[in-house]
Amino acid sequence: MRKQLSISIIIGIIVGCLVGYFYEDIGSGLLCMLIIPLGHFSLYFTDDPGNTTITRKVADDPALLALKRKNILQELSVLESARGLQGSVFEASTELVGLTDENDARERFTSTLHIYWAAEALDLFIWERGSWKSVGGEAHGNEPMLTAPVQLPDDEQNDLVLDLSPGVDGQAAVILRNAKPQPTIATRSVSDQRYIAEVLRGQLVLSLRRVKLYKRLQELGRTDPLTSVTRRWYGMERLAELLTGKHQISVALIDIDFFKKINDQHGHQAGDTVLRRVGSTLNESLRMGDIASRYGGEEFLIILPATSPVSAKDVSERIRASIATLADMPCEVTVSVGVAGSSPYDNVESLIKRADDALYAAKEQGRNRVLLADDA
Ligand code: GH3
Ligand code: MG
Ligand code: MG
Repeated sequence: MRKQLSISIIIGIIVGCLVGYFYEDIGSGLLCMLIIPLGHFSLYFTDDPGNTTITRKVADDPALLALKRKNILQELSVLESARGLQGSVFEASTELVGLTDENDARERFTSTLHIYWAAEALDLFIWERGSWKSVGGEAHGNEPMLTAPVQLPDDEQNDLVLDLSPGVDGQAAVILRNAKPQPTIATRSVSDQRYIAEVLRGQLVLSLRRVKLYKRLQELGRTDPLTSVTRRWYGMERLAELLTGKHQISVALIDIDFFKKINDQHGHQAGDTVLRRVGSTLNESLRMGDIASRYGGEEFLIILPATSPVSAKDVSERIRASIATLADMPCEVTVSVGVAGSSPYDNVESLIKRADDALYAAKEQGRNRVLLADDA
């Protein structure tokens, strides 16, 4: 560039001197000396539309090169960090795939969130029947106060709280007790951390939704659609499982009296209504952990874990009385019940056989009664 400027100035001086000499006008000569270098120098740029010379010069400039290199490296590092974050989110969602049991959710959610926040414990709460229920074990602290989709730990509170309500029909929340950002995100701004918590919340909501749908599907698969008690196969499976435990189990076989007559005299629709009402009475009469199954057409099997036959007889008597006094029935409905308690040598067949024998005896003795296998 300096060389071009010198050439322009020399040309300007020569032309200026010639003009001054020939036209005997010093002013015009001086003006030429000033204008010509400027004009020539500017032509130098316009004649070189690609500015190749300048570009070459800039490209050769080590300071400019270092600056460019620094900018590119900075951009690459931002991209690398975004890629790392996306990779870990992918890792987090992989952790959640395959989660189908609600009770495993606490453990899986802990390992997912742990990638970003270290914590003392995690609690998963679901609002059920008017109160918060801690899922997967005892809660480690207070129940949630849902004020925002994401509550980051700050000066006022130490927990990370994520509102997972869209994952259930009512309300749900996950609380990471005494949460501290892991090195993966500790250097990031609060808004970045909030963004990460929001992405994770979305993942956990989807996961919880899937668990709930899976649970619903399982329930549908094991529920008898007419009576709403469980299907026979489910009762049999659970009974076989319970008989391997150390507690005594009692079973009751419940059979509707003269059901054929109900169908014949009042029609099948009325018969179905009776079956539905008996089914709902059983479901309402039993404790959590007890199982009611439809054993046959109008026969039901009740399984009472960790229950003596004497207690089972009391429960059965209560059920018998409830059914006998059901209002709004198409006709009078009674049931006969045979009860048996397990011995250490029992299997499913032998235990049910004794209950069935007691049921047969109850029918023989006039129906609408409960008989215990030993009494029978
Ligand atoms: P018992 O007092 O000796 O038990 O007499 P019962 O009439 O109840 O006994 P039985 O086994 O002879 O009759 C059972 C009847 O239940 C026969 C069958 O048609 C009816 N049944 C079975 N499943 C259903 C059902 O899903 N709906 C209706 N409406 N009836 C059913
Ligand atoms: Mg029967
Ligand atoms: Mg019957």
